[in-house]
Amino acid sequence: MIHDIAIDGPAASGKTVVGRLLAQRLGWRFLDTGVMYRAVTWLALERGVSLEDADGLGDLARTYPIRLADGVSSDDVSRPVETAGTRLGPELYQSRVDNNVSNVSKHSTVRRALVDQQREIAELAATVSGIVMIGRDIGTVVLPDAGLKVYLTASAEQRALRRWREMRERGQEINLATVQSEIEARDVIDSSRDDSPLRPAADAWPLDSSGLSIEETVDAIMRRMEGC
Ligand code: C5P
Repeated sequence: MIHDIAIDGPAASGKTVVGRLLAQRLGWRFLDTGVMYRAVTWLALERGVSLEDADGLGDLARTYPIRLADGVSSDDVSRPVETAGTRLGPELYQSRVDNNVSNVSKHSTVRRALVDQQREIAELAATVSGIVMIGRDIGTVVLPDAGLKVYLTASAEQRALRRWREMRERGQEINLATVQSEIEARDVIDSSRDDSPLRPAADAWPLDSSGLSIEETVDAIMRRMEGC
């Protein structure tokens, strides 16, 4: 019986909607680790901590643990996260956060602090049900023994279109070409950093969601789970 599923993949590959729905269907918890890196980035920008100051950023990540609504992280603005006494929702998706988060998350000091918190959340979840955790390094670093590892991808065009629609829904005015170049820039930094680069774990199941709906993608993962 498995109790943890790791979903990794590049920006806007559909991890959040798929992971959340999968967790709902299983009655498990859901943790979107991207929210945690975004919260540290937001804090650093607010407090004027340089994005090159590895120790300063690591201190921020350790000093202000990210409190997640009902113990579950979500980028759903109706369930904000809280850090340093501030509730954060849409702030986490500001362009300034989008454009700087990869430069914050490349620092090992930050990663160590957040990975510790992520493992604690997974341990707690295992005592009640299970967890679907999404990010870039879940199958490779955070939960190397996860019962199922999925590496979710989609074409660059589809990913850009998805993110552009999400941003429009949040009221952000931006053109599609800019969104595509921003997510590509983030993927380059995320895949080329020294610590925990974005890549599929050796035992990850690659799933291309390009031609699939959210429901079909979740169905495919559920079928795959039966074989675990
Ligand atoms: O998934 P999302 O787009 O919200 O992630 C924002 C950024 O956080 C990523 O581009 C990456 O730099 C960082 N991240 C990470 N490791 C994770 C999750 C997110 O480095 N496990």
